[in-house]
Amino acid sequence: MPSLRAAILPVTPFQQNCTILWSEVAKKGVVIDPGGDVSRILDAVAKSGISVEKILLTHGHIDHAGGAAELRERLGVPVEGPHQADLFLLEQLAETGRSYGISGSRDLMPDRWLVEGDQVMVSDIAFDVLHCPGHSPGSVVFVNREHRFAQVGDVLFRGSVGRTDLPGGDHASLIRSIKEKLLPLGDDVNFICGHGPTSTIGQERETNPFLI
Ligand SMILES: [Zn+2]
Ligand SMILES: [Zn+2]
Repeated sequence: MPSLRAAILPVTPFQQNCTILWSEVAKKGVVIDPGGDVSRILDAVAKSGISVEKILLTHGHIDHAGGAAELRERLGVPVEGPHQADLFLLEQLAETGRSYGISGSRDLMPDRWLVEGDQVMVSDIAFDVLHCPGHSPGSVVFVNREHRFAQVGDVLFRGSVGRTDLPGGDHASLIRSIKEKLLPLGDDVNFICGHGPTSTIGQERETNPFLI
């Protein structure tokens, strides 16, 4: 990735991979899935030396979206994503945060909902939006084919797939999303997922027990 840079910052008790993604040329970028620990995210942004232009959300779960309202306020930038089907999750972030003991979580109305085929900009680098329901109904994946890179949220993990026992989850839809939208991206596509280590589409196609 010559001009695209990523830094992963695990946040919340769920160790969710909040990701700062930026153009090294422009020194501008985005924060993806600021689930919480907003002060630590702001410290990491300051260390990276970039200016943040927006916040992107892969889906509406607390560990991904809980800190988005506070970060939006502190940075003065818009929130884009997820798909509107996750509205019911975003409307109960404060309550869910309280039940998990995550302080500072606030309900959120994004500035832009995303649908299949949309594009989001990370500085001057365009990412395609794939709607990948199953883990949550409004989960989206951000892909840049030129850089062979995707941010997949909790849709696909190294050696596993997203859980589907939460409200709105559906295992058959999840597997269909992965097989019809992610595997065709190509074996050499690297991805950052919501939890745990990064992987490639090829490694998961060949070894992920949920995809056999
Ligand atoms: Zn999730
Ligand atoms: Zn998660």
